[in-house]
Amino acid sequence: MQRRLWDRAREFAMRLRAQDDGASQDTNGRNDVRPIIAINETPQSAQRTDLAAILDALPDPAMILNQDSVLVHGNSLARDVLGALRFGEHVSHTTRDPKLAAAVVNAEQSGRREVFELTVRRPIERRLEGSVTPLAARHDESESVAFLVILQDITERDALARMRVEFVANASHELRTPLAALSGFIETLSGPAKDDPAARTRFLGIMTEQAARMTRLIDDLLLLSRVEMRAHLEPMALADLNLIAADAVSHLTPLARKDTISLICEPLDGRADVRGDHDELVQAVQNLVQNAIKYGRSGGTVWVRVTRGKSGRKQDSEIRVSVIDDGPGISAEHVPRLTERFYRVNTAASRDKGGTGLGLAIVKHIVTRHNGIVDVHSVIGKGTTFTLGFPAIENHALSAE
Ligand code: ADP
Repeated sequence: MQRRLWDRAREFAMRLRAQDDGASQDTNGRNDVRPIIAINETPQSAQRTDLAAILDALPDPAMILNQDSVLVHGNSLARDVLGALRFGEHVSHTTRDPKLAAAVVNAEQSGRREVFELTVRRPIERRLEGSVTPLAARHDESESVAFLVILQDITERDALARMRVEFVANASHELRTPLAALSGFIETLSGPAKDDPAARTRFLGIMTEQAARMTRLIDDLLLLSRVEMRAHLEPMALADLNLIAADAVSHLTPLARKDTISLICEPLDGRADVRGDHDELVQAVQNLVQNAIKYGRSGGTVWVRVTRGKSGRKQDSEIRVSVIDDGPGISAEHVPRLTERFYRVNTAASRDKGGTGLGLAIVKHIVTRHNGIVDVHSVIGKGTTFTLGFPAIENHALSAE
């Protein structure tokens, strides 16, 4: 019995390797199959390495069924996605979805790999792509066919694909609106309003605004893609959040003055060093200050405050920069979605104020690359506080560098 199991395991390993290699063929057209593990033929080691161990070593949920679709083996990942595995029973007792059993029948008939999709709802809904591969029957030895079932979680891949499609649709829509306005005014100016100087002056003003809106959108899209491209590069430079807050405030003081808003910088008394890219962090803080000016109280105050505290995640020290306004606030149901691309509480108000809907998505990306957190606290009628928190670099770590 052990011997037969071992032969199967070896064959299974060879086939997996052959699939991985795209079944590379030798000059005689035979498949060049090599085992994925070094198999020692001694009975003791054969006892130690059995089929279950091979399944457990796989990075995906996997099961072996016998020729009657009875579940013989399954790894712990399969248990995680399917719940209890019913060994010794037909596979339909493990997953009620008939697609797996149907794929087994098809694989048996065709002698080829069959692909299917499953939706599981435990503990949350996940989409799985599965394959059923008949493990070779050695007809000469009248060995029966078995099936290898491998499942892959495609929930995230699907969500990413959907996000990409939605993103392109949203970006195109955002660009199309000002473009349509520009085309309309060009038509009017070259036709009915050709000889009307007053209309020309008015329309040119609107066209300038629409062109500026398109420029802002393209600038933000480019910025977002630059930040995304660097997402996996850990920032190594030293950045001082006191300096970053001061830079953001000095860049935006003219804008705040124009909107009669007092912009106040309150640096940390002491060092405020974090690992980071100075320009990117200034960009993130500027986006928050711009929002506080845009959506805050007219004639109100915006504070940019740097503080030190204990991180909620670990007991490590964290340096925070908070942008606080005394505006109308954001109701709680919007808060979790604010950093989504093109999400706005009030689309018309955002567009009126020159918003692109990408400012907070850019902030989120920059902060994530810096191993930081974004926290939003808002009270209707009182104001909103956006806080960015980053792991602090202690003085002793600096002197050791
Ligand atoms: P936008 O370009 O529209 O400002 P953001 O991504 O920067 O896009 O912000 C998303 C939305 O969050 C804004 O449209 C606005 O509704 C809301 N918001 C952001 N900051 C504030 C704030 N300080 N006070 C009130 N609402 C805010």
